[in-house]
Amino acid sequence: MTDHESLHRRAHWLIETELAAYAAARPNSEKLAPLSRRHFPGGVPLHWMLDWETPFPLSIVSAQGATIEDADGNRYIDFCLGDSGALFGHSPPAIAQAIADQAQRGLTAMLPSVDVAPVGELLFERFGLPFWQVTATASDANRGVIRWARAITGRPKILVFDGGYHGQVDDTFVSLRDGQTVTRESLVGQVQDTALHAVCVPFNDLGAVEAALASGDVALILTEPALTNTAMVLPEPGFLDGLFALARRHGALLCLDETHTISTALGGHTGSARLKPDFFVLGKPVAGGLPAAVYGFTAEVEAAMQAVLDAKPAGYSGIGTTLSGNLLAMAAIRACLGHVMTEAAYAHMLGLAERLAEGLEILIATRNLPWSVARLGARVELIFWPRPLRDGAEARRAIDHVLERAIHLFLLNRGVLLTPFHNMMLISPMTSEHDVQTLIHRMGDAFDAITDDSM
Ligand code: PMP
Repeated sequence: MTDHESLHRRAHWLIETELAAYAAARPNSEKLAPLSRRHFPGGVPLHWMLDWETPFPLSIVSAQGATIEDADGNRYIDFCLGDSGALFGHSPPAIAQAIADQAQRGLTAMLPSVDVAPVGELLFERFGLPFWQVTATASDANRGVIRWARAITGRPKILVFDGGYHGQVDDTFVSLRDGQTVTRESLVGQVQDTALHAVCVPFNDLGAVEAALASGDVALILTEPALTNTAMVLPEPGFLDGLFALARRHGALLCLDETHTISTALGGHTGSARLKPDFFVLGKPVAGGLPAAVYGFTAEVEAAMQAVLDAKPAGYSGIGTTLSGNLLAMAAIRACLGHVMTEAAYAHMLGLAERLAEGLEILIATRNLPWSVARLGARVELIFWPRPLRDGAEARRAIDHVLERAIHLFLLNRGVLLTPFHNMMLISPMTSEHDVQTLIHRMGDAFDAITDDSM
């Protein structure tokens, strides 16, 4: 039986069973939880970590390669990989060594290190943009890009897509409700109406983009090449080309935020397809999981940035933070670009991800489930929807929190870790064929547990 009601009935039953099994197998994590809760709400250093929805958080003792070990000695094959921070595996040896070496020679100085020139060459070679800045997080990078774009164009608005996410960036917290741009309901402590300076349109809808740009007040289109933060919405053929053309025609700048889509291929969409966005953002894995991000831009943008600075009093630009581009971050970025984010690494990741996607498709087809699989290189998403998703609104309809929770808990209890709040699976260069086969088998068992009415 696969009708919605019976799937949910089974899923609720499974959640209860798996929650009990979770607690039974993790006495040490359970003991640590109240101690952590004494000074950290929920026992976690960042409240997002409660999104795993386990009875108490999993306490981690080590993360190496594609494996995580918890405080009870349970081992997990990690397909979450720190939600992309560890896309190239946990502690890749070249990055761990570079960090260890640099740590002996200084961490931060607010001065450029000897790594700056080689990192610039590597970024140019890999992504094709001539100029770069370094920040501490992808959120910071996007905030900087928005500020520059507004300053350069003299226009107030940014255009983002419904269902998109670009980090802790006030301006981007908008969504579409009844065709209107509104402040995203979940945003905490917001006093300004974010819809005043942002316009939100559906992904894959060039007509809506053109209508928004026609007002002439959009400084920047900020988008991922595919939406990856709401299930996974891939660009339809011609959509990205159309976006570039519309931005040019209407005098808006375009930023591709490739923080997640770096999974696509070596260089992400930008480097592999030789695209020339005005800005490019990459955070999370660019320093192997050490907090660092980069944004790149064209020579024209660089000249315009200089003109903006020349026209202002010195200092207090509102762009940058003290630890950005520090000695340690630059060493880690250099090691990542030079030794970890390589052609060979992607060949391994993409090959295994393809096998994973095929395996999941077979599981779905043989059980006649109304679901599908989307893949963006090394990023695979199980979607509770029978067809490719078109936009954020459709993606919201495809999200099924109950099914998701049941499957995640089932897998977690069997040594397989998925990203919370969606069904995303990442393949690292350190993930093995055996890891992927294990995931496929366990996922098949999870599907059976949810669909088999005799259980
Ligand atoms: N851009 C994209 C596309 C993201 O998915 C995220 C985080 N999920 C960010 C930016 C922000 O990254 P961070 O939280 O590391 O600043």
